[in-house]
Amino acid sequence: MPFGPQACAREHVRMGLHPKPRDLEQVRTVDPTELSAQVIDAGEANEPTNRVTNEICEIDAGIAVVESFSHMVVFETDDGLVSFDSSGELTGEAVTESLRSWRTDPIHSLVYTHGHLDHVGGSGALLADGARRGHPTPTVIGHENLAPRLERYQMTSDWNRIINRRQFGGVSPRHGLGVDSGRSAFVPDATAWPDTTYTDSLTISPGGLDIEMHHGLGETDDHTWAWIPQHKAICTGDLVIWVFPNAGNPQKVQRFPLEWAGELRKMLALEPELLLPAHGLPIRGNARIVTVLTDMAEALEFLVRETVAMMNGGASLDEIVHTVKVAPDKLALPWLTPVYDEPEFVVRNIWRLYGGWWDANPAHLKPAPASELASEISALAGGARALAARAQELAEGGDLRLACHLIEFASQSDPDDVVVHGVRSEIYKTRRATESSLMSKGIFAAAMNESKDVIGE
Ligand SMILES: [Zn+2]
Repeated sequence: MPFGPQACAREHVRMGLHPKPRDLEQVRTVDPTELSAQVIDAGEANEPTNRVTNEICEIDAGIAVVESFSHMVVFETDDGLVSFDSSGELTGEAVTESLRSWRTDPIHSLVYTHGHLDHVGGSGALLADGARRGHPTPTVIGHENLAPRLERYQMTSDWNRIINRRQFGGVSPRHGLGVDSGRSAFVPDATAWPDTTYTDSLTISPGGLDIEMHHGLGETDDHTWAWIPQHKAICTGDLVIWVFPNAGNPQKVQRFPLEWAGELRKMLALEPELLLPAHGLPIRGNARIVTVLTDMAEALEFLVRETVAMMNGGASLDEIVHTVKVAPDKLALPWLTPVYDEPEFVVRNIWRLYGGWWDANPAHLKPAPASELASEISALAGGARALAARAQELAEGGDLRLACHLIEFASQSDPDDVVVHGVRSEIYKTRRATESSLMSKGIFAAAMNESKDVIGE
């Protein structure tokens, strides 16, 4: 009995890629379903729930998960293995190595839950391993919107590298997270593109194991989640990620919060006993799955309901952003913590989805160049350094939102002033430290680094 919960024990933790390596030192509960049971039953987490260990754990007979950035979820069948996702380019080899410590069978099918690079970028390593073993090339399955997504990434390759460096750069501001290998284009050349696509749903039955794939809008327009009835299991992809849903990302394309909630409710209707997300912990037991999926769906539905009600009442984006808030006790739940995305950004995405890009401020429809506005404000205030001094006061008083506006006016009106940039760098250092979400931290760290570059630090 080489595997099973006890076989999840590992001799060491591979640290190839993780936002906060020190987190892994807090990993005490090796079996991820044992940890998820503790966390859900207690409603609080005393250990990291997103563990990038690249280690494999057999969750049930013939089902294994490699916890990585993102996970590989594998089912054993008599016709070979079915893998959901391949992890990313940087983790692909380590994840494949872990998979092969469990099973050496050919991969029958590689199913992509969506086309984000941390899910498809490891496919080159996985397929190369199969080729070395003399295995036939697996079928690569994805929703029909997945290839167009990869084509868009190719068209915007440099843009995507810039925003990902910024998005993930706040974790370790000078070094970044290492999501981007820098070795190849945003979509690595070795990535296996889907050769089998579908529109609404697709069922395959390798070795008699039925795998029902369903398309669902949510984080992306190309998402696949799958119901495996023999195991009463659902592979969720990123529709469950053990942090607040990534439905608002400020630097990425449209997300679909209401449809996302709808897919979670479809999953609930199947009464699953095992939930296998692409990030975070697998969950065993229907009651626990109901708790997590219901909390997620309700949070998304609440944001849509409240935002749309205010839009229907004629409110501006500004009023809505500062009014619609998810209750703090919900955000404290380990599966809803806003440490990656956050509700305020989801509100903006809902506005963009049902409204448009204009925020209802007439001055913002056809604005003056930002530098001209900044110079005008700066002249009124007595100069860029006067603005910076007031920004510093506001920051010291805790009003970082307002402080950031003033320091932007100051630096835009006098972009080379080292005193202004010294204040700016400190304000964004403080702001980064006070924010909870990776996305906010990343953007504020990038601003801090811009100013550090100006002052030559
Ligand atoms: Zn992901």
